[in-house]
Amino acid sequence: MTANTPAFRTDLPPFARRSTGEWQAADASHFLHPFTDHQALAAQGVRVITRGEGVYVWDSEGHRIFDAMSGLWCVNVGYGQDALVEAATQQMRTLPYYNAFFQTTTPAAAALAERLAALAPAQFGHVFFGSSGSEANDTVVRLVRRYWDLVGQPQRQVIVSRLNAYHGSTLAAASLGGMAAMHRQGGLPLPGIVHIDQPHYWAHRDGAAKGLGRDAFGVVAARWLEEKIAEIGSDRVAAFIGEPVQGAGGVIVPPATYWPEIQRICERHGILLVSDEVVCGFGRTGRWWGCETFGTAPDLMTFAKGVTSGYVPLGGVMVGERIARVLIERGGEFEHGYTYSGHPVACAVALANLDLIEQQGLVQQVRADTGPYLAGRLAELRDHPLVGEVQSCGLMAAIQLCRDPSRGEAFAPETAVGLACRRHCFDLGLVMRAVGDRMIVAPPLITTRAQVDELYGLIRQALDRTHAQARAVGWMEPGGAGSPAA
Ligand code: PLP
Repeated sequence: MTANTPAFRTDLPPFARRSTGEWQAADASHFLHPFTDHQALAAQGVRVITRGEGVYVWDSEGHRIFDAMSGLWCVNVGYGQDALVEAATQQMRTLPYYNAFFQTTTPAAAALAERLAALAPAQFGHVFFGSSGSEANDTVVRLVRRYWDLVGQPQRQVIVSRLNAYHGSTLAAASLGGMAAMHRQGGLPLPGIVHIDQPHYWAHRDGAAKGLGRDAFGVVAARWLEEKIAEIGSDRVAAFIGEPVQGAGGVIVPPATYWPEIQRICERHGILLVSDEVVCGFGRTGRWWGCETFGTAPDLMTFAKGVTSGYVPLGGVMVGERIARVLIERGGEFEHGYTYSGHPVACAVALANLDLIEQQGLVQQVRADTGPYLAGRLAELRDHPLVGEVQSCGLMAAIQLCRDPSRGEAFAPETAVGLACRRHCFDLGLVMRAVGDRMIVAPPLITTRAQVDELYGLIRQALDRTHAQARAVGWMEPGGAGSPAA
């Protein structure tokens, strides 16, 4: 990591003017982090991130770090964009908050609703706002069930999702998700939510995908939905939900045949199709929406993260006219909403963010330039002795680590090679996330070709270090768990 920035600045508020040790102590004593083993974190000491600029963040020791995860898939326009700061400041001065419950709206919320309706595919004319992706997906459960009630099919209750999907962490969103570890801790999923397997070619290479090309496998994987519908009874199935590209599950880019077949199956059985665009929306895949990249026409789309580039929390659901008309014309009061539905500051920041994405042509840039360029650079990693497969879509990508790439042999699970690689990344000044043995990146959409080159160089170095470690501790031996990760 390069230490080229002062640890703290005197123009910052008092809480920001402490030492790394003081922040770490306060944090370890009082902050329960999301998805974190707290004992392990306290033992190692939390990293304190103090500022960001462009695609980089700095920690409290002055180390510059390439943020190849855009925060958490959200800081799409990068750090330090004054236009967003000014939009928030202006809105806070004028009207920091007002609700949308009391037959009231705010100019920012109304304008953003209008803007999103224009930006979304033609079937969408309305939006329901919340503050996060989890809330958006909870709203989907409410909307879907309400819709089927209103059209006289209340027995359509079951929502089908996928194993290893991530849709958020509230009870309904975690139920929609297919993360076994989350379900185990929460007595989940809630009733009426079921899962089919994911279209993960690599994971199925010795099973359902064996002997099949990617396209043939895509159709097989989509038909798992039809089998599930047959098992439940099509008159009981309300909706299917999926991320166009599974993000937190490991950037699983589905075969091109998968989503069109899913769409056909949903249409054949009259089932609502929900696209979770929390990660894929707003340009990540090289189109405004992931469903446009994969050729589907969903009835509902959830979004969050990239709508404000993470500068302030905002999420919501784009509601297709098929559902909106029923809700508006026959529904009476919809008993659902949040204090911060349509928060004016969040909406003002979203509008400024969308302006910036448009002015800088970021979606087009990802589609025609930096997305293909990233794919090309990462493809060079295929010769690396740790790399089994590389996949990318727009500016999101996965590198599958394996013990023997020629045979696609995985590491013994206890090696935790992904976490070892992640540590090397941090040491090199790079945030790359590990999902098991799959390393993933999703850099800001402003990332330039030169920064893609820099990213590629850092990744290769991290892989080389991981390989050297794996050889040294015996992980590369057949069946070798070797000694535990250092
Ligand atoms: N949906 C997807 C696809 C996500 O990746 C996430 C979060 O990473 C969520 C929903 C949940 O969003 P939030 O963390 O804002 O609740």
